[in-house]
Order: sequence, then C-alpha cells, then structure tokens
Amino acid sequence: MAHPDDAEFVCGGTVAKWCAEGWHVVYVVVTGGDKGTHDPDMYPEKLAAIREEEQRQACRVLGVKDCILLGYPDGFTTDDQELRGQIVRLLRQHRPDVVITWDAFKRGFNHRDHRNIGTLSSDAIYPLVRDRLFYERDEEDGHEAHEVNDVLLAGSEEPDYVVDVSEHWSKKVDAILCHASQIGDRTREDFVRGREEQRKREGHDRVEERFRRWTIRRSPQADKDEDKKPEEDSAAEKAPARN
Ligand SMILES: [Zn+2]
Repeated sequence: MAHPDDAEFVCGGTVAKWCAEGWHVVYVVVTGGDKGTHDPDMYPEKLAAIREEEQRQACRVLGVKDCILLGYPDGFTTDDQELRGQIVRLLRQHRPDVVITWDAFKRGFNHRDHRNIGTLSSDAIYPLVRDRLFYERDEEDGHEAHEVNDVLLAGSEEPDYVVDVSEHWSKKVDAILCHASQIGDRTREDFVRGREEQRKREGHDRVEERFRRWTIRRSPQADKDEDKKPEEDSAAEKAPARN
C-alpha cells in the first residue's frame, strides 16, 4: 500500500478475516503519509512518526504479523528500478500466496502514489519476482524467485471479486479508528450510523470489500476443476472466501 491507513479503508475487513483464519499477513507501506494534514503546526517528520504508530496499532488490532514501512516521502513516489527492486525483494523474502495492492489500471482520477504503487507492485509480481535473473542479488542472498498465486486490486472500477466482511466489520472500524490523525472527529458511532444507513438503502446488512482479481499461477480451467473437486488442495483456494 502507499500510505498508512490505505489498507484499513480498502481491505481492513479482508485482513481481519484472513488473520482470524490463521493466515500470516504482512503489510508493506511505502510512504510515511507525511503530507496528510491541514494542521498549520504539523511538520512531515512528526506526522510520519505519528502515522507509523497509528499503522502499527491498527496492525495489532487486526492481527497482522509484520508491518514494514519503507519511509518514502508522501506524494513523491516514482515508478523506478530501486523501489521496484525493494518490492521484488520483499516478495521473495515473505513469499505471499496473495497480494493486495492498488489498482493502477483504473481510467479515472487516481492518487499518484496509489497509481505508482499499483504499477510497481504489478510489475514486480509479474514477471520480476518469478524470474531469477531479475535482481540477481536476491538469489545470492538466499531469497529465491517466487510465484504469487493471486493479486487483488483495490479501488478498481470493475471489481469482480467480493469478500463478505460482515463478521469482521467491527474490527475493521477499530483499526480505522487507530488512524486518529486522519479521521477528523469521526467516532465509532458515526461508522455504526453509516452501516445502518447502508442497511436501509440496500436492504441487507452485508458488508463487502470489492477487488479486481488477477490470477497468475493457475489457469481458468484449474479454477473450474477446483469448483468440481473442492477437496483438492491449493494455497489460493484456502485464502480468500469466494462469495
Ligand atoms: Zn493512500
């Protein structure tokens, strides 16, 4: 993700669900979010320190095992080889089955950091992480090439994958509330009221997080076969709920 709090808003429920199911979730947050304020007395280093602590607290609430903050300046990310290499290395170290990142392919207006992190992560996942001759130093250091199963793109205009997070909504709100520097005077009651309004509007109490899913390792045919034979084991099958 690009900024502290991005993950809580777009996938906090999914993260809570996966952590509850026993999946090992690792966060990588590229910038310090050090421009996100209207406070005339705030300055970037102070804000980055505040937001780091908010992010770590949110991770503790959700059950995230590891929270890696790369500390790039907010708003100044660039789609370059150095940052791409850092992401490749982290993917080879932590070897995820599923990656959630920003959708860089959306046509409408997008935050520069969201666009860049989505692009960098997608390029890193395919093909750089998979092919050992990209960033060869990783292999020398014992971090072998890796293949990610699935990518879930957040903020997509055309989501095709839905996670029902109704049961984990309360924890998601707890995690969002950790970002006190970002949520103004919003309280838990405001979120509860928002959910109540949604229930009236949509006629159900389900809370969903929506993504565009990009399956890399397995063919669409393998997906169909898996539906017929649910006992067949695979890492991707166990990860997110299919609703
Ligand atoms: Zn953001």
